[in-house]
Amino acid sequence: MDDSQLDVIVIGGGNAALCAALMAREAGASVLLLEAAPEEWRGGNSQHTRNLRAMHDAPEDVLTEAYPEEEFWQDLLKVTGGITNEHLARLAIRESSRCRPWMHKHGVHFQPSLSGTLHLSSTNAFFMGGGRALVNAYFRSAQELGVKVRYNAPVDTIEVENGRFVAVRVGNERIAAKACVVASGGFESDIAWQREAWGQNERGEWPADNFLIRGTRYNLGLPLKSLMKAGADTIGDPTQAHCVAIDARAPLYDGGICTRVDCVSLGIMVNREAERFYDEGEDFWPKRYALWGRLVALQPGQIGYCIIDAKAVGRFMPPVFPGIKTNTLEELAREMGLDEQKFMATVNAFNAACKVGTFDHQVQDDCHTEGITPPKTHWARPIDTAPFFGYALRPGITFTYLGLKINDHAAVHFNGQPSPNLFAAGEVMAGNVLGKGYTAGVGMTIGTAFGRIAGTRAAASTGHIHEAIHAAA
Ligand SMILES: Cc1cc2nc3c(=O)[nH]c(=O)nc-3n(C[C@H](O)[C@H](O)[C@H](O)COP(=O)(O)OP(=O)(O)OC[C@H]3O[C@@H](n4cnc5c(N)ncnc54)[C@H](O)[C@@H]3O)c2cc1C
Repeated sequence: MDDSQLDVIVIGGGNAALCAALMAREAGASVLLLEAAPEEWRGGNSQHTRNLRAMHDAPEDVLTEAYPEEEFWQDLLKVTGGITNEHLARLAIRESSRCRPWMHKHGVHFQPSLSGTLHLSSTNAFFMGGGRALVNAYFRSAQELGVKVRYNAPVDTIEVENGRFVAVRVGNERIAAKACVVASGGFESDIAWQREAWGQNERGEWPADNFLIRGTRYNLGLPLKSLMKAGADTIGDPTQAHCVAIDARAPLYDGGICTRVDCVSLGIMVNREAERFYDEGEDFWPKRYALWGRLVALQPGQIGYCIIDAKAVGRFMPPVFPGIKTNTLEELAREMGLDEQKFMATVNAFNAACKVGTFDHQVQDDCHTEGITPPKTHWARPIDTAPFFGYALRPGITFTYLGLKINDHAAVHFNGQPSPNLFAAGEVMAGNVLGKGYTAGVGMTIGTAFGRIAGTRAAASTGHIHEAIHAAA
């Protein structure tokens, strides 16, 4: 391909980038995809995913019951506390109801969710083989369609003139094109940037020093930084992120999903002072798991301890690292390095406050506490049956929410005006929909919806019109 004739550059190699590249290519545009990672690490955070949250009005292949637009929207409204753009959110929700046949066409297969404990069978379509299989299928399809792919190609600069995209730079190399889609993820892997965003707390700690990154090490936010310098409009708070409490023994990068510890709603969480600090039973785990990383980040030493007893075993996905297991609670406190007396006082107060009704982890049951702060509003049962288990947890950052402001064509904005040929998709614009909070599977919904829109619009801006132009406007 002669780069001077190039239509669309796509920056990134994850789900959003691949959706954009495929759509732009299907519309007839020539496409060059620049992936920062080497081939064996391609696929960004998308390689770690398992599912996509999808709207549907009746049972569909792997999805049970119905999950209509309004219910999806209400879930999103609740988890974001209203810090979301309703128009863009509803656009992503509607797109999620029609993207799966297209995904299937490009080699993505679906399977039902695990039964029992995850509450996801009616809302989330699981990828057969996980995100790695999805990414591989998309790369295969993109290459078959003639998308050029370059690995080890981190874009560090995006040249923009009066809001119009001109070229990218990869080190000393300059590549021009008629349009560009930025799908380079968040900036979570740049610890220095996170450190600057989080600053120092009242205890003199730098919380970001204790963060672990659940996904790729390549999401350093270079394209975002370059566009911020060029005057692009941004959205979101730099400290807001999808942030999960994960096993403190997880590696700094790419620990992936198996480092998650999913038993918080079945037990209690205490901090380094052996005190509880939040309602462990506030809502179903898929709507709350991404809150706990931030809660732990706000605790002394950025560490929390999840405590369960034998009654919880078998009711959650087993974590990859075994927990500390003891026959008494006193022993558990000692092994976790917590003050034994304080710990026992916390557990005893919790146990005494439990009003156990009919325990049912599948519904928001009536087992709750009375007379303690914070309360546990559902699934509250005394921690009293040996053996006891403890897991030390750290904040695990999945992706950051500070990103590029876009409109319903996925166009990046400069001084309130949409660029005619620069578009954004995925984590780099997820902050338009996710001001805070998260509900499982919506990252892939946003990336797929806006990746497809951005690819179509980028191609259209170069004169290539896809037959199935989105009803975005
Ligand atoms: C462990 C884990 C599990 C998850 N599970 C789910 C799930 O089941 N469902 C769900 O919806 N979401 C899940 N997520 C979130 C999900 O990964 C993201 O929402 C989604 O993958 C974002 O896609 P993306 O394409 O925007 O970013 P990514 O997939 O992160 O892709 C970004 C790409 O940009 C590349 N890049 C970065 N900088 C540059 C540069 N300067 N130049 C060129 N390329 C660059 C990266 O190498 C990467 O290929 C999970 C995340 C993690 C970490």
